[in-house]
Amino acid sequence: MSNLQNTANKTSLLKCAQLVLPNRIERDMCLLLHNGKIVEIAAHIDPPQGTNIIDATHDIVMPGFVDTHVHGGNGADTMDATPAAFATLSTFFAAHGVTGWLATTVTANQNDIDTVLNVAQKVQTDGSLNGAKLLGVHLEGPYINTKWRGAQDATFVRPANPAEYENWFARGIVKLITMAPEAAPENLTLLDYALTHGAAVALGHTDCTYDQALTFFARGANQSTHTFNAMRGLHHREPGLVGAVMDTPVYAQLIADGIHVHPAAMRALYQCKGATKLAVISDAIRATGLGDGEYRMVDQTVIVKDQVARMPNGALAGSLLTMDIALRNIIHTTGCTLPEAGLMCSHTPAASIGMGHCKGKIELGYDADLVILDDRLCVKHTFTQGTIFSIKQENLDFDGFQQWHQQQKQIDLDLDKARSSRLNDILK
Ligand SMILES: [Zn+2]
Repeated sequence: MSNLQNTANKTSLLKCAQLVLPNRIERDMCLLLHNGKIVEIAAHIDPPQGTNIIDATHDIVMPGFVDTHVHGGNGADTMDATPAAFATLSTFFAAHGVTGWLATTVTANQNDIDTVLNVAQKVQTDGSLNGAKLLGVHLEGPYINTKWRGAQDATFVRPANPAEYENWFARGIVKLITMAPEAAPENLTLLDYALTHGAAVALGHTDCTYDQALTFFARGANQSTHTFNAMRGLHHREPGLVGAVMDTPVYAQLIADGIHVHPAAMRALYQCKGATKLAVISDAIRATGLGDGEYRMVDQTVIVKDQVARMPNGALAGSLLTMDIALRNIIHTTGCTLPEAGLMCSHTPAASIGMGHCKGKIELGYDADLVILDDRLCVKHTFTQGTIFSIKQENLDFDGFQQWHQQQKQIDLDLDKARSSRLNDILK
């Protein structure tokens, strides 16, 4: 599905039609990449000898996407805990514009999570992954609330146990943990432990109240996991986690597939948080990129029908979203600019896990993590720390995605019609 050229140690010059910077688009600009970093941005650059020249004079160049919440794709799942599964995922994500990702676990027994961490550590250090860079692990559970478990297996939900989690954090690979504040008093100790070991803390799969959420945010938790999903709704007398997220300067993860969250709620969150606090995630699962059918999620079965993934009890079971589609969805739904969408798909998620100083922006000294898109916002190439990953044209659109795009377009059209007819009624 791809061809790779090792350009990491080379110097590359990109001639860009449109360069997406954090606050504006620059036209007809050049970018010089060296040793995996962005070293020059100018209208004209004289390339040193031997420079690899990339012609993007018809294309859009923006920061590579960073997905902090993703479980699988193209038949592989992080819980498979094999180097082959991680390799499949890194190349699949790169084909969709991702240059950095967190391998996201699900609620499982200690041994299964240990094994994922072992493999993640191995493939992160041995250089065996091509494509998107594995930035670390996101532990989604097991210290959550069964009431809002969603697709998480209730059998393995448990109170935080230091004998278990100290070993996980000691490895230094965990960059994010999703927990429910109210699940057990021990979770406050867990929060402190995670923060002192370099992991960010997200609140999610939780029934917490506004006050409980605020206590955890004040103590250092910095985001909500898939905002609106797997938490109580916003009530005007008990605003819950959603209210706490809207009322404080924390990050809000959002699954931007238009299925998990209604477009109106997506817009409301965007208007409230802005592009620097709204982190687009995929929450994608194994079935992403494949057709309808039954798929395995550890010991559970996920049923994909009409490109929506559900548990046998009907609960949504993660998404079939890729970040390139998320980019198009967030622009279409919120009407935001391309630089704002770039922030929400790249820098904001990177910043939410403490990597905003080197990832997610086209700026001097930043990692050369880029995505090159055509004018339909379809991915043509990605660069991860200077290494180019090219996507063959025939693989740009999978059949399933084309079908899904059509459905999405129809949903959007229907919503637009409904909105304008309601507006007409109001204006009458
Ligand atoms: Zn998830």
